[in-house]
Amino acid sequence: MQTVRVSTYDGPGTAPHIQIVPYPKISDKAALIQIGVCGVCGTDLHILKGHWPKPLPWPLTLGHELAGVIVEKGPGLEADFMGQPLTVGCKVMLPPLMPCGECDYCVHYPNNANRCLNPTYYGRYIPFEKPPHLWGGWAEMVYVDLEMLPATKIYRLPDTMSLMLASLSEPLTSCIRALNRAVSVGGFRVGHTVVIQGSGPIGVLMLAAAREMGAGRVIVVGAPEQPRLALCQAFGADATVSIEEYTTARARIDAVRQIVGGYGADLVVDCSGHPSAGPEGIEMLRDGGTYVEMGQFTDAGSIETNWHRICVKDINLLGSWAFTANDIPLAINMLDRARNRYPWHRIQTRFPFTEAGIAEATQSAMDMRCVKATIVPNADICVG
Ligand SMILES: [Zn+2]
Repeated sequence: MQTVRVSTYDGPGTAPHIQIVPYPKISDKAALIQIGVCGVCGTDLHILKGHWPKPLPWPLTLGHELAGVIVEKGPGLEADFMGQPLTVGCKVMLPPLMPCGECDYCVHYPNNANRCLNPTYYGRYIPFEKPPHLWGGWAEMVYVDLEMLPATKIYRLPDTMSLMLASLSEPLTSCIRALNRAVSVGGFRVGHTVVIQGSGPIGVLMLAAAREMGAGRVIVVGAPEQPRLALCQAFGADATVSIEEYTTARARIDAVRQIVGGYGADLVVDCSGHPSAGPEGIEMLRDGGTYVEMGQFTDAGSIETNWHRICVKDINLLGSWAFTANDIPLAINMLDRARNRYPWHRIQTRFPFTEAGIAEATQSAMDMRCVKATIVPNADICVG
């Protein structure tokens, strides 16, 4: 009997076991994919450290940055997610956490990543009742069945693309999307200066993505010099700032600002996953710059220190300080248009233009005895 070797973990902190499962029978809309390559993601490491916020079906096979070749498929599986034909011998990749397409979030907010209420985790149907299953990429093969899990997405790869290169497509996608999030708020344009916090795999892929998407200069803050910052230099980083050399947030902020010059960077992207990266990175930005948090997803914080939730919740967090000259007519027009729709004047409590009146106005406001203390130097011209 033909068999397949699969690695499993019994839970966080355990060692991997290689187990043997029977070669599955291939259903009509299913495929068996021989794995050429599967990356080790920071998410896998978090899972192994016990950081995953929800229960997981241990024992399980990790690995979702996979690239492989279809070795057998059912006749009902004819095309990939983009409509490209699938045949035995095709190179493919499968992303994790694919949306169901039917829940409230999928129907109404399809552009928010991974907010699906019922996501298909690895997109792979479990053909056997008991583990080990054929669903994680740290295995000789994975089995997918789109009849059983229709949310599974298969993407055909270019025939000439090596599986090594293809296994970077999943993490690179996260980087491209993060930059497009910045584009969507006008925060990333051709020529912009970009600072990347973190020099792990996401940091390096972000560097490549930023360069390919038109960044002017790209600066990476990370460690260690070998192999990570050296690789960033090989990828064309204009400068690197070592957190081993600059050991305090203040020193790193000063070093980055010295390099970027002017008022600070246009865009800072956190790829480090470090809880303090956000407050530090904001100080590397120019006023009016954009910060994208993509480095943190686990329960690494509480309500009091929940910066990581910006990433987990896929939210837009925008600063807004005062206004621009072009905003003023918006307020004048709104007041004019809506003058009779609200009791505007009940906001205002009038005080006369005398020393006692001004003192009473400020005291009344401080004591919250009024809403908007308003000084009236010339009551005769204030009709209404
Ligand atoms: Zn859904």
